[in-house]
Amino acid sequence: MTVWWNDGLPFDCTQCGKCCHGRGDVTHVYANYQERKRLAEHLEISLPEFNRTYTQALDTGHRTLRFVDGHCIFLDGPTCTVHDAKPVQCRTWPFWDELLESEETYREQVLDFCAGSQVDGPVVSAESIRAQMKATEKALGEP
Ligand code: SF4
Ligand code: SF4
Repeated sequence: MTVWWNDGLPFDCTQCGKCCHGRGDVTHVYANYQERKRLAEHLEISLPEFNRTYTQALDTGHRTLRFVDGHCIFLDGPTCTVHDAKPVQCRTWPFWDELLESEETYREQVLDFCAGSQVDGPVVSAESIRAQMKATEKALGEP
């Protein structure tokens, strides 16, 4: 299938942390069971304690990371304090289905604010983008 990003997209994250802040109606970072377990192990605490302290439950049965002062609870300045154990959706942003729907959506939701997407290279291949979209979909589908 041909898509507008068939030749890949340039991306080089500057680690500015801006995408860890809430924007408009974007205030959720989902963490499924496996992701929460990995985060709890990373922090050397139990899963129930992790759930209580760092997440909130949604009516859908999913859990999201808590936001404090408008940003993810694990953000310290521009730095993710759980980088090695962060959820899939943090690893794959901005290569999500909804953000790549059209060039216009990508411009509005990503290019206009993410410095890492405003570069000439390196180029992330369409194959890698597809794999990241798939991984995101899978992770978000699990409670
Ligand atoms: S906003 Fe872009 S450049 Fe900044 S941390 Fe997020 S992905 Fe990286
Ligand atoms: S877990 Fe880390 S990368 Fe993900 S939103 Fe929180 S601070 Fe950002």
